[in-house]
Amino acid sequence: MSDVIAELLARFEDKLDTRAIVVGYDAISEGFGELIAHLPAGNWLVAYDENTWQVAGKRLAELLDAAGMAWTRYEVVGVHAGEWPMCDDAAVLAFERALEATGCVASIAVGSGTINDIVKLASDRRGLYMACVCTAPSMNGYTSGIAAVLSEGVKTTIACRAPRVIIADLDVMAESPYRMICSGLGDLMSKPVSNADWQLSALLNDSFHSDEAMAIIETGAAMLEGVAPRLPARDREAIGGLVNALMLSGLAMSVAGSSSPASGGEHLVSHYIDMTGHAFDLPCDFHGCQVGVGTLSTAFIYERLMALDPGSIDIEACVEHLLPWPDYRALLAERFGPLFEAVVKHAEQAYPTPEVLRARLVRLVENWDVIMGSVARTLRTKDSLEAELLEAHCPVRFAQLDVDRERAFASIAHSKDIRNRYTILHLAWELGHLDAWTRAALEELF
Ligand SMILES: [Zn+2]
Repeated sequence: MSDVIAELLARFEDKLDTRAIVVGYDAISEGFGELIAHLPAGNWLVAYDENTWQVAGKRLAELLDAAGMAWTRYEVVGVHAGEWPMCDDAAVLAFERALEATGCVASIAVGSGTINDIVKLASDRRGLYMACVCTAPSMNGYTSGIAAVLSEGVKTTIACRAPRVIIADLDVMAESPYRMICSGLGDLMSKPVSNADWQLSALLNDSFHSDEAMAIIETGAAMLEGVAPRLPARDREAIGGLVNALMLSGLAMSVAGSSSPASGGEHLVSHYIDMTGHAFDLPCDFHGCQVGVGTLSTAFIYERLMALDPGSIDIEACVEHLLPWPDYRALLAERFGPLFEAVVKHAEQAYPTPEVLRARLVRLVENWDVIMGSVARTLRTKDSLEAELLEAHCPVRFAQLDVDRERAFASIAHSKDIRNRYTILHLAWELGHLDAWTRAALEELF
């Protein structure tokens, strides 16, 4: 374990489920003892798919067999032959049933986001510990206490215990598909805007904010310095920096007890693309690749917000433009079609009354300099974020994600309704600028 990570696991032992994170060469062998130390003895259910079996599952199986351990194979498959597996309600339930049927006492996910989330959530529901052998540095969820699930058609995050042990072999990580490496960097590049959203919500709505989690995120961000341009060559040291930064980002979410530190409006853009992709059979990219483009979108919108003259904000006009909830509900039904029922409950929770909206905007205008100053401490410009993503050959346009212009527009302008968490997208909408700023963003980002 890196000293920084070991120190964090010790310091936050009471808040974290994770007891060991082993990142390094030959980490599957090196970390095998941690599995034995931190998972209960008995039959373990090992989940993998065709690809992850080849790159890491076989090695784990050899070690389990050599140690004479009892274990059972569980292959995660796509809904249709040839499709990537997905973490949805059915996949989680299937793994829960397998845990029950096999009587396994713990489980190990061999994979990245999807397999980890399926095993993490299902094991937690059965009250069992699990561990993860990572196969790609594609997202920051390995160490987080949440699972991203497509539940009733809506991409949601559900709280659950993080893995007891996480093993990331740098040779395996470095040889993962390059788009997955881009995805990991894209997920982390959201930090400047997701933290700004977190801060914005705390200042406008008194929502929870944690300095402890912020400090962990800053430590992780420092590990990313100079990493992007070295990723295309699969430089092992750079991959190590990326992996450790991903682990820290997830730990920050676990310490905060929420995904807020690492997930703001830019994640809504990605979740919207996932949801519509699934519902209407449209193309999707890896989570972090979508998040990267979402990040450029919300960074652009922050630039427009910060250029406003607060004296020009007509609060009463904004309140007057707020549709009564039944009218807005009807608009959502039109907008979301078959996804409406799943979306509307989240949208309703977040929908302001005229009084709430007025109070929020008064607070914004009265404290404009303080709020913008606070948000600016973490923000970066769209151009600097784009330059760093480009150094790593990451996608920076919606067209590169295979998302058409109409869907790109909706992913920015309509995604605020899929989750009850206040972001820059909500504020831009409340000020009446979201559609125009989205159109302007797409002039640069489509
Ligand atoms: Zn993410």
